[in-house]
Amino acid sequence: MSSVILKKGREKNLLQRHPWIFSGAIERVEGAPSVGETVTVCSFDRKPLAQAAWSPQSQISLRVWSFNPETMIDAAFFRTKLKNAIAARGKINSSALRLVAAESDGLPGLIIDRYADWIVCQFLSAGSEHWKETIVTLLQEFFPGLSIYERSDVSVREKEGLPSRCGVLSGTEPPEHVEINENGMRLLVDIKGGHKTGYYLDQRDSRAAVRNWAEGRNVLNCFSYTGGFGVAALLGGAKHVLQMDSSEPALDIARKNAGLNGLDPAASEYMCGDVFKELRRFRDSRRDFDLIILDPPKFVESRGQLEGGARGYKDINLLAFKLLRPGGLLFTFSCSGLMEMPLFHKIVADSALDAGRSAQILAVLNQSPDHPIALNFPEGAYLKGLICRAE
Ligand code: SAH
Repeated sequence: MSSVILKKGREKNLLQRHPWIFSGAIERVEGAPSVGETVTVCSFDRKPLAQAAWSPQSQISLRVWSFNPETMIDAAFFRTKLKNAIAARGKINSSALRLVAAESDGLPGLIIDRYADWIVCQFLSAGSEHWKETIVTLLQEFFPGLSIYERSDVSVREKEGLPSRCGVLSGTEPPEHVEINENGMRLLVDIKGGHKTGYYLDQRDSRAAVRNWAEGRNVLNCFSYTGGFGVAALLGGAKHVLQMDSSEPALDIARKNAGLNGLDPAASEYMCGDVFKELRRFRDSRRDFDLIILDPPKFVESRGQLEGGARGYKDINLLAFKLLRPGGLLFTFSCSGLMEMPLFHKIVADSALDAGRSAQILAVLNQSPDHPIALNFPEGAYLKGLICRAE
């Protein structure tokens, strides 16, 4: 087996069980490992430290499979790892959940989601791609009768030198929409064409929180995607929901989702538009709401985007505080991992201040527990939210 020798002193991250080794930490490669192959990682003085997947094109040249250099990385290894991850999900009241959350489950670059009778995989790294066949065989064994679909159409694969790929891995082609049941809420998911693997599973608990707080309220759901937060609000007794997104196909599914849950069509309104613009229009026309949800896409992709991203969050939060009636609630989120809670908290506080509103935090929200955060991989904590009440 090939070995990768690290530069002097560059084993520090590994000793802290961080699974990434960057190209700059590498002294030399011994042997000629192929893309995705397992290599032994050694310190400068040749002490074996870990087994990792080799990805020569990526800045992240190595992703660790095991911090025990004696571990054999083979089908039996993946069997145990996958079994452990799936068993760790515990009781989640949903037919859709993340079964494997990549680095956070000790399986770098591998996402596995379940939507009712469908398993959807993303192979995001050279290492996970290398073991694809083994992983699919194990999934067939664990979930007999379920079909497996690949959604490896993500830009991070370019950095690994891998092409974009979607298609059936096992079983049959998914239908246009697969129905899931999330905490009693019926929802349609477009596995083949939807965002991510089809749905934002990470917001499950926050949708349940909205349902608890929505009774009697007039709700604005910004960045609604397929309307999950809005449908949850109506099921929780909201009077009216305005679902707003820039994607017409997403709003089409949102309409179907409202119907599927037997909701009064008069209680829902749909607006295809740009949240930044529409919030300004509402401010100017003095349209107001009792509950506003802000769940924007990732504004910060790299450190260089932090300042611009912060301005984006400030802008929409400031506008939302202006549109809230007295006693109104703001559910505000950031899924940018680089925007940490203290900074997000400050932006939301500054937004309330600039809107001339006193407000309190009623609760802090996080990604749902099927998106765990490994203590050795803080990058896995990306989604954060606040429930604020404005006076
Ligand atoms: N809240 C959703 C997930 C939102 S994802 C859920 O729980 O399922 C972010 C959404 O924002 C996407 O649907 C995307 O189409 C939409 N979007 C991105 N930029 C936008 C903009 N400027 N105005 C309106 N919608 C936007």
